[in-house]
Amino acid sequence: MLELDGKRCRELYSAAKIADRVAELGREITRDFSGRGRDLVLVGVMKGSVIFLSDLCRQVNLPLTLDLIGIASYGDETRSSGVVKVTADLSHPIEGKHVVVVEDIIDTGLTAEYLLENLRTRNPASVKLCALLHKPSRAKTEVPIDYLGFTIPDEFVVGYGLDHAQRYRNLPYIGVVEPSAPSEPDGA
Ligand code: 5GP
Repeated sequence: MLELDGKRCRELYSAAKIADRVAELGREITRDFSGRGRDLVLVGVMKGSVIFLSDLCRQVNLPLTLDLIGIASYGDETRSSGVVKVTADLSHPIEGKHVVVVEDIIDTGLTAEYLLENLRTRNPASVKLCALLHKPSRAKTEVPIDYLGFTIPDEFVVGYGLDHAQRYRNLPYIGVVEPSAPSEPDGA
């Protein structure tokens, strides 16, 4: 158990375990897109995927380009509502390109579903989804994940790009912030 800002954080995946899995995902993408003869673009979804994207792209042994897309989901801090909009668009067209969308986590699946539909209207050669984490118990829609890091239980995770109120993204591991223990009643 680690200590973060006075809160307890239980490690789910160490930096070493994440690195091993990201290397495997990079090998899978390299294998699948070798000899496809069209441009490959990895599209990171801001901000949660940027650390995953930066490690993953260095494990793909093919010519590729990187792009980023910003998405806002209207929900509270920890739950997405499924009402989504693009807040920062891609810098280059994806028409005719092979696109791999790189997501931090698929929770309800609503954000990824919206994003994949949006990108498909731009006539790419193909669109695949790569997600570091998946919480299948919370799915509200079935989104096929072509490349998946880890399946996790329904817990709110932070680190390796994932935030809580914009913090904890820089943790090198993925962990669960434990709720604070209720304080002892007076006189106990
Ligand atoms: P979905 O639309 O699949 O419900 O939500 C996807 C987005 O919700 C993720 O990209 C992420 O920003 C946020 N999210 C969902 N679950 C978690 C979690 O456990 N931890 C963090 N930090 N963000 C989460």
